Order: sequence, then C-alpha cells, then structure tokens
Amino acid sequence: MQELSNISMTIGGASVEAESGFDVFNPAKGSVLCQAPSATAEQLDQAVESARDAFGSWRALSIDERRSYVRKCAVALREHAEELAEIFTLEQGRPTSGAAIEIELSAAFFDETADLEMPFEITEDSDTRRVEVHYDPLGVVCAITPWNFPLTMFAFKVAPALLTGNTIVVKPSPFTPLCTLRVGQILDEVLPTGVLNTISGDDGLGPLMTAHQGFDKISFTGSSATGKRVMESASAGLKRVTLELGGNDVAIVMPDVDPEVVAQQLFFGSFFNTAQICVATKRLYVHTDVYDKVRDTMAFLAQSIKVGDGTEPDSVFGPIQNKRQYDRVMNLLNDAKDTGLTLLTGADVPEGDGYFVPITLVDNPPVDSRVVVEEAFGPILPLLRFDDLDQVIEEANDSEFGLAGSVWSKDVDAAVEIAKRLDTGTVWINENLYLPASTPFGGHKQSGIGVEHGMDGLKTFMSAKAIYIPK
Ligand code: NAD
Repeated sequence: MQELSNISMTIGGASVEAESGFDVFNPAKGSVLCQAPSATAEQLDQAVESARDAFGSWRALSIDERRSYVRKCAVALREHAEELAEIFTLEQGRPTSGAAIEIELSAAFFDETADLEMPFEITEDSDTRRVEVHYDPLGVVCAITPWNFPLTMFAFKVAPALLTGNTIVVKPSPFTPLCTLRVGQILDEVLPTGVLNTISGDDGLGPLMTAHQGFDKISFTGSSATGKRVMESASAGLKRVTLELGGNDVAIVMPDVDPEVVAQQLFFGSFFNTAQICVATKRLYVHTDVYDKVRDTMAFLAQSIKVGDGTEPDSVFGPIQNKRQYDRVMNLLNDAKDTGLTLLTGADVPEGDGYFVPITLVDNPPVDSRVVVEEAFGPILPLLRFDDLDQVIEEANDSEFGLAGSVWSKDVDAAVEIAKRLDTGTVWINENLYLPASTPFGGHKQSGIGVEHGMDGLKTFMSAKAIYIPK
C-alpha cells in the first residue's frame, strides 16, 4: 500500500504538495488516520487552468481514442484493486470484501461507459434539407462527491465526462479524500496531462469550486440541502448542473412472496455499506400476510451478523463513516426510543471510540414518525405493516424525495403496474441497488436534477448543436 502520507493531489500531471492539511479519521477507531492536503485557492485555479489547457487536444481525439483511454482507466483500477481496497477500508470503514466490490464496480463502470453509443440524431431528412443534431463537449467539469461511495461516484462522473471530450477537476468529500486522490495519481499514469485533476480540502473548497468561473459544468452528488446551495452558486455563471441527491426509498413487499427469501435480499439491500446508500431501502412496507415472517427473518439476520472494524475478517458491516453522520443517526435512534417506538434489534449502542451503530429494526412505527419521514442514511429501518396498496402508494409518494424504490411480488406484471405509480427515478422489481452504466439514473423531486448514466447521462456533459444541411 502507498504510504498514506504520500497520497497527494494531482494537478497538471504532477503530484502537488499542500501548504496545509486537514485530519482524516479512521471511523472504526474514531482517531486520526493521517492528514490530507488542503488545496489553496491558487491550486484550485491551477487545476482549472490545467484542465482548460488539456481540453483542446482531448476533445480533438477521435471517440475511439477516448474510448481506449477510458478502458485503460478500468485496467489501472483493477491493477491497484488490492491497495485501493485497503485504503478504502481504513478511511471509509467498509469491510475489505465490500471495499473490493466498490473498486470493481468503479472499474466496470469505466468499461461499460466506454461501450456507450455517442449521441447523434437526424431529426429531418426531407427533399429540401437534412437536419443533424451533433453534441459538443461542454469544457471543464467540476465534480464533487460524497463519502458513502467515493470511488463509484468518482467513476459515475469521470468516465462519462472524459468519454464525451470534457476535462475534469474532482473534489472528494473531506471525510474520504484518500482513495480518490490515490486514484488520481494512478490514472494520471494512463491519461494525457491535465485531463483529470484531483484536489481536496475541507467543506470550504466546494463553494469555491461551484463559484469558480473556469468551470462549465458542476456534477454534484450529495445531500439535497447542499445541492440547493450548489445550484444557487452555479447560477451566477449559468453553469450546467447535474445534482444527484438524497432519497427515502420505499420497498413494497406483496403477500405472494417467499418472505424468508425476500427478507434476505431486502436485508442486504437496506444495510450494505451500513445503510449509507442513497438508494438503500429506507421505508419497508410489508403486506400484513407476510409481515411477521419478513420481520422475524430480518431480525434474525440483524442479530447474527457482526458490525465491526472493517479490517476484522468476520465484520459484515462497518461503522458509520464519520462523526457528523454518527451524531445524526444517534439523534434519530434516540428520538425513536424517546417516542416509545418498538425497536426489535439494535437498542444498545456499544461503548467505544468507533462510530458503531447496530442494525436497528423499528416495528411498525407511525408513518409520521421521524424515522419514517427523514432520510436516516444509517442502519435504522422502519418496517411498516400494510393491507391497503393504494394507501401505501400514496404514503410512498408523500415525500419530498423521489430517488428510487422497489416492488417485491411473484406477479411481475402487477409489480410493473405498481412501479408505474411510484414517483421515483428508478424502480426495481424483485431486486435492488443495480445501477448499470447503460440506463439513466436520477431523482424526481428533491432527489435531484438531471441524470447520470446512459446516453441521457452523456448528454448532460454536452451541448446539442443542430446543423441544417440544404439539399
Ligand atoms: P454533503 O452534501 O454534505 O457533501 C457532499 C459533497 O459536497 C462533499 O464533497 C462536501 O465537501 C461538498 N460540499 C459541502 N458543502 C458544499 C457547498 N456549499 N458547495 C459545494 N460543495 C459542498 O453530502 P454527504 O453527507 O457527503 O453525502 C450524503 C448524502 O449524499 C445523502 O443525502 C445521500 O443520499 C446523498 N447521495 C446521493 C446519491 C445519488 O446518486 N443520488 C449518491 C450518494 C449519496
């Protein structure tokens, strides 16, 4: 593994020293892991300039040349998978096997994106003219990512930006800067100078970036509250904005399922990454006919798996990633206790310095309780008993969020009809968490603006240009 202290920012093809740094914590210990570099305003300028300098020659490459570079990124990530997984577990907390999944998901995303068709349309081909719609790259992209899936979110932004001919400056969350900065160093070996720049800093750096006049587009993933600030700041320069924000996803379990099988799938769909997933199930509606079996199976699983330090081989789930999020989750947990909700598992939070919260299942709380209404983004899951589907759909849609959801039933046609009535950007049937590069992904309502993935996602990194050709 690279010495953590040697992990630096990459600007204009060079590793760059920082004048100062900020603390990065190991969430399993609650102690400082190392210092990460804080970019100065001048270093941000340099990163933007280097991306601008690289833009002309990068966009001039043929699409096949750029595809080849994007595929080389996937190869480089896989070559460094072991090292990256180790760093990932130390700073993010997720156990090593789950960390390895993240590296592979990110590499696969580069590969799948390289396979995408580029947008091009002919909208008229008449006796008098042919109209072609071409798509030009925007220029320099600013990417800002969260701490829950730092490398996947990096891939979601960098792969399409590069494929479409843009250059990019990436800023990871201050809670998880190391993996992203290390990937910046690794990919700098395979990409032309300045095409990808990685910088880090505390929460003050994001606003400097969104206000920077050198960027043409902001690609942001994070909370809805920050997303609103990003949009406001980007408006001054009329920068293009894509916002992938929070969610409070519903799963609806119909009475015809095999409750024990479905409970296992839902358990991992809800709690993988210690439930810190934007598209995790966060409100679990279960039909009354199968409620008890689903609840009991999930409670059994919650009690039988280990939540622990990700470097210990038997840990299935790790700690909450950071103290700020830990405090939020504890606040929600204490509210559930104080308001007399029934906690099936997880009432006792272990003593110690790591940010550990046990898997907590809440038995049929009122639909207006905080644990149902708010995005927990931690391992507290309300199970809600239902027998009136119309009412469930109404409650599901009665949310400021509209990110994703899932329907579980042996009757797939009926499940599709339910899916059509959910006001979310993604609905899975009998599965969850699958987000291929081929298919648009984005939130309705306050879960986001614009989409990532697929040709629609590529278009968000481009401007349409209609060319009217006379005949
Ligand atoms: P956050 O909004 O606190 O931070 C996200 C990023 O924004 C970080 O890099 C942070 O440093 C930066 N930032 C903070 N203030 C900023 C500002 N004023 N201007 C610009 N940048 C700023 O979010 P988080 O706590 O890191 O992530 C958790 C949230 O992300 C959850 O709500 C989750 O649902 C959401 N999320 C959404 C998706 C999706 O695809 N929809 C994916 C992952 C996470």
